[in-house]
Amino acid sequence: MSATPSRPAINEPAPSSRRHDEEAVSSPTNLPPGQPRYEFFHVVQRYLDKAAKLIQLPDYIHQILSQPKNEIICHFPVKMDSGQVRLFKGYRIQHSNILGPYKGGMRFHESASLDDFKALAALMTWKCSLMGLPFGGGKGGIKFNPRTVSRNELQRITRRFFHALGGNIGPDYDIPAPDMGTNAQTMAWAMDTYMNTVGMVQKQAVLGVVTGKPIASGGTVGREKATGQGLVYCILEWAKRNHFDLEGKKLLVQGFGNVGSHTAVLLSHLGVSLAAVGDHTGYLYNPEGFNAHRLQKYVEEKGSIAGYPNGKAITREEFFSLQGDIFVPAALENQIGPAEAEALNVKLIAEGANGPCSPEGEAVLLKKGIEILPDVLANGGGVTVSYYEWVQNRRSESWDLAEVDRRLKDAMEHAYSRVVHATRQHQTDYRTACYCVALERLQRVYEEREIFP
Ligand code: NAD
Repeated sequence: MSATPSRPAINEPAPSSRRHDEEAVSSPTNLPPGQPRYEFFHVVQRYLDKAAKLIQLPDYIHQILSQPKNEIICHFPVKMDSGQVRLFKGYRIQHSNILGPYKGGMRFHESASLDDFKALAALMTWKCSLMGLPFGGGKGGIKFNPRTVSRNELQRITRRFFHALGGNIGPDYDIPAPDMGTNAQTMAWAMDTYMNTVGMVQKQAVLGVVTGKPIASGGTVGREKATGQGLVYCILEWAKRNHFDLEGKKLLVQGFGNVGSHTAVLLSHLGVSLAAVGDHTGYLYNPEGFNAHRLQKYVEEKGSIAGYPNGKAITREEFFSLQGDIFVPAALENQIGPAEAEALNVKLIAEGANGPCSPEGEAVLLKKGIEILPDVLANGGGVTVSYYEWVQNRRSESWDLAEVDRRLKDAMEHAYSRVVHATRQHQTDYRTACYCVALERLQRVYEEREIFP
C-alpha cells in the first residue's frame, strides 16, 4: 500500500479552449458544422420587442423584462464511479419574480448553454403570466449528457448541483421542476438534498421546493402527464374552434420522452394515429400507426425508440416531409427552420417543446397556412399542474386526478380564449398574442407596485 494518501485525479475541466461552453453552439446538436449558432435568447427578445410595441408597453418595463434578474453559474466536483473527480457546470437563471417565486425546469443536456437557459427562463415568465399563475420565470440545469453516467453518478451529480445552489432556490423563492433529461426521480433527490440542508424542524415545511416529485414523496397525481394533457386540451380547443374532427387523423411526434409520449398516448385515446416518431437515436414510420402506449413502455425500459419493432427506419428529412395532420415537436429548440417548414405537410403544429420553430421557419409555416399553437400556451399545462402540486404541499392536501384534470382543462381553455381574443384585438398571430396577454398582466403589476425605492 502506498504511504501517501491517494488523491483522486481531476479529469475535468477540459482544456481551456473547450471550457467556454456558453460560447459553444447552443442548439440543436445536429446543425451542420459551420452553420451560425442559433441565438435562442435573441429570438425570444425579438418576440418580446414585437409584442411590447403592439401593446405599447412602457419602456422601463420592456427594459426590465428584456434581461434576467439573476444569472447563477456554479462549478461543482463529483466523484465518479471510477474514483476520478469530474467538474460540472450548473446554471440557474432567474428571469422575473414580479408575479411570484421563480419557477421553471432543470435541464440536463450536453448542448445546454447560458443562452438557452436565459431564453427558457424568459419563456417561463411569459408562460406563468399567461396561465395566470402566481409564479415568475426561471430555468436551469447542467451541461452534460445524463445518458453517459451511471444511476449512482446521476444521483451524486444531482445532489451536488442542488447543494451548490443552496439558498438560491426555496419553496417561496425559486421552485425547480423536471425538464429535458430530468424526471420525478431527479426531483426526489433534489428535494431530499434541500431538506437536509435546512435543519430538522424546517424539513417538512420545504416539501414544495421542487415540483414534479414522485407521488409518494409529495408529488401530485396528474403531473407526469400534465404537459401532454395540457397540450391535448389545447389541441381539442383548436379542433373545436376549427370544426376539425380528430378521429382518424395522423400524428407526427419529434421527441418521445415525457411530453411527446404522453401527448401521443392521450391523443390515441381520441382516435389520433401515431404515424411517425423520432428521438435522439433516429426516426420511425408506420403507416398503420404505432401503439403509442406500447412504444411509451418500450422507451421507458430501453431509453429510446431505437430497435422498436413495427416501424420502418426513416431519415430526419423523410420524417419532416411525411403527410400528416398534427405535428408535435417535443424535443429541442430550433428544430423547424425554413427547410423543415417547407417540407412539412400538416395542418397544425402544437409546440410541446420550447422554441421548436425558428422565426424563419415560422414565417414559412404561416405563409403556407399551417397553424401553430405556441409553446407559451401549448405546453403551459406542465407548470400549471406544478402549481397545483405546490398548493397541495402548502395545504397538506392531496387532490384526486379528476380534480387536477378538471382544473387543468379550465386553465388551458381560459388561456386559449384570452389568446384568441388578443389575436383579434391586436390583429396578430398566436405567438405574439400570447406575449401580449402575458405582458399586459406584468404591466399591470409593475404599474401598481412601481419601482423600489
Ligand atoms: P425528455 O428528456 O423526457 O424527452 C426528450 C426527448 O427528446 C427524448 O425522446 C429525446 O430522445 C429527444 N431528443 C433529444 N435530442 C433530440 C434530437 N436532436 N432530435 C430528436 N429528438 C431528440 O424531455 P421532456 O421533458 O419531454 O421535454 C421535451 C421538451 O418539452 C423540451 O423542450 C422541454 O423544455 C419542453 N417542456 C417540458 C415540460 C415538462 O413538463 N417536462 C414542460 C414544458 C415544456
